[in-house]
Amino acid sequence: MAEVHISKHPLVKHKLTLLRDKNTDPKRFRELTREISLLITYEALEDLEVCPKEVETPLTKTMGYKLAEPIGLIPILRAGLGMVEGIWEMIPSAEVWHIGLFRDEKTLRPVAYYNRLPVHPTVSVCLILDPMLATGGSAVKTVEILKAWGANRIKFVGLIGAPEGVERLTTTHPDVDIYLAALDDHLNEHAYIVPGLGDAGDRQFGTA
Ligand code: URA
Repeated sequence: MAEVHISKHPLVKHKLTLLRDKNTDPKRFRELTREISLLITYEALEDLEVCPKEVETPLTKTMGYKLAEPIGLIPILRAGLGMVEGIWEMIPSAEVWHIGLFRDEKTLRPVAYYNRLPVHPTVSVCLILDPMLATGGSAVKTVEILKAWGANRIKFVGLIGAPEGVERLTTTHPDVDIYLAALDDHLNEHAYIVPGLGDAGDRQFGTA
């Protein structure tokens, strides 16, 4: 069964409250998105494998560690873009593979319009980045794409989840753990998370 990890970190709670505030302007919204994403990812990567590596300090040689698994960041366009930079600074070796989805108005299912994944998987841990886990449709579709690619360790990293989205992702893909800053109350009739923060894409890009 999937683990659903809601951060308890005071810094995350503090910054998320600023992010939710309707008076937070796009510049500050982007900074906060970047900072919270980094903090959540730190928690999400606690079980990353390392291998031994010798290092020479100014005093002596000693054994240390290096990351053993190639990591892929998979931002879902467009709101996931703002989550990349902070995480990438912390893990500069990570590969970034964008996924673009739109909703087919007839079937109401997400359809990929951008996917440049190579034929064979090049990373062993995939972090799907999307600030809002609302209905779960985009997250489920992205996991399907990554599994078809051959990825075997997939985690979802977001900022706010709705119970509906968490339920859908965990039941469809029980092997995908979810890491969030908060689990909110419900979705409204327009599939917005309540209390939420509004449209995460519009608020980052100043397009509201
Ligand atoms: N996407 C958003 O940007 N906000 C929501 O509340 C739900 C989906």
